[in-house]
Amino acid sequence: MELGVRLPRHYRLELVVLDRDGVLNRNLDRGVRQSSDWVWLPGARAAANCLFAHDIRLMVATNQANIGRGIMTTEQLAAIHGRMVDELRPAHVRLTDVLHCPHLPDDRCFCRKPEPGLVHAAMRASGVDAERTLLIGDQMSDIAAAGAAGCWSLHVRSGRGGPPTGPRPRYLGSVANLLTAARILTATS
Ligand SMILES: [Mg+2]
Ligand SMILES: [Zn+2]
Repeated sequence: MELGVRLPRHYRLELVVLDRDGVLNRNLDRGVRQSSDWVWLPGARAAANCLFAHDIRLMVATNQANIGRGIMTTEQLAAIHGRMVDELRPAHVRLTDVLHCPHLPDDRCFCRKPEPGLVHAAMRASGVDAERTLLIGDQMSDIAAAGAAGCWSLHVRSGRGGPPTGPRPRYLGSVANLLTAARILTATS
């Protein structure tokens, strides 16, 4: 068990909110701008299958400021997410929803992580409360968004950022990748 903090006994996880880049697919410095830029991280689809097979709802919540910058259109983003959804289907995974923030850091919106807006929206859309929700992300902004929304969080080292330092509410720790996370979260203790 790689985690420093354990979930409560008899805990039942109902919703996992997945950050996208660095969790499901490979980060690109220029950003993933079209569906041909999409490269699955090893084990990501198996991990999604594992979680989904354990009756955990899955949502994606991703910052996509390239839309606000005008270098990617909403249609291109929809095509990327269409590919993602299509390629999860053979793994028997259905996402409840895919949420994105199109804004720039300076827009001061409430949805761009580390703000909690996307996480709140994910919980609202799935009808699951913060106690039964866990966010998995590769950056400090993901962990901070989860903390601000009051849900659990887990860091994966398959992306861009290192693990957050210092104690944080409901932060479980850092693991190698999504497949490790899924195995830990679905292991019966
Ligand atoms: Mg990320
Ligand atoms: Zn936003």
